[in-house]
Amino acid sequence: MINLHNKQFKPFISSEEIQNSISNMVDRISKDAGNDIPVFVGILNGSFMFVSDFVKKYPKPCEVTFIKLASYEGVRSTEDIQRLIGLTQNLAGRTVVVLEDIIDTGNTLAEVHRIFKNENVKSLKIATLFYKPEAYKKDFKIHYIGMKIPNKFIVGYGLDYDGLGRNLPEIYQIKETQFMTNLVLFGPPGAGKGTQA
Ligand code: 5GP
Ligand code: MG
Ligand code: MG
Repeated sequence: MINLHNKQFKPFISSEEIQNSISNMVDRISKDAGNDIPVFVGILNGSFMFVSDFVKKYPKPCEVTFIKLASYEGVRSTEDIQRLIGLTQNLAGRTVVVLEDIIDTGNTLAEVHRIFKNENVKSLKIATLFYKPEAYKKDFKIHYIGMKIPNKFIVGYGLDYDGLGRNLPEIYQIKETQFMTNLVLFGPPGAGKGTQA
């Protein structure tokens, strides 16, 4: 268990599982790229660890660049995406693969599509290490998914809670309050046969 600011987090995904999942994505993406030299576009800040480990495993020549978007406040996604650093090079005709740490509501992904709309790339594919299917509310195709996870806030491996937790090499999940845990385990007050000690 770890504490960040005022919240508790419990171990959720080990670094070994993360690395296996990335290796698997690398295999699929390098196969699909064929003879093209892809440009991997990481979305800062959250994707920096994923991009770093991903390109170290990538077996063929590739380019790496970043754009910087921000949407999250605390533990909640907002509709208002800020474009802090945009594309800095011409990607016309290129095979582009966007590398996201996590796709939640899809608001950030919508902004990514707005950014690439007039770039005339040869192909645009979306890869995300983590995906919360229950939270996703857009129709954009997600081409490569590392792991599907429940709709609960996570930190670690690049992902932060108000600035903290990015440096953790594994993933932690927010711990439900004692009240919520009791609801799930024992049902609402008065439910079940006896009282719980
Ligand atoms: P979306 O725009 O899809 O709702 O959220 C995308 C961005 O919000 C991600 O790139 C990530 O930075 C942040 N985010 C979404 N879910 C989580 C989460 O569970 N934990 C953390 N730390 N950030 C998240
Ligand atoms: Mg991100
Ligand atoms: Mg964040």
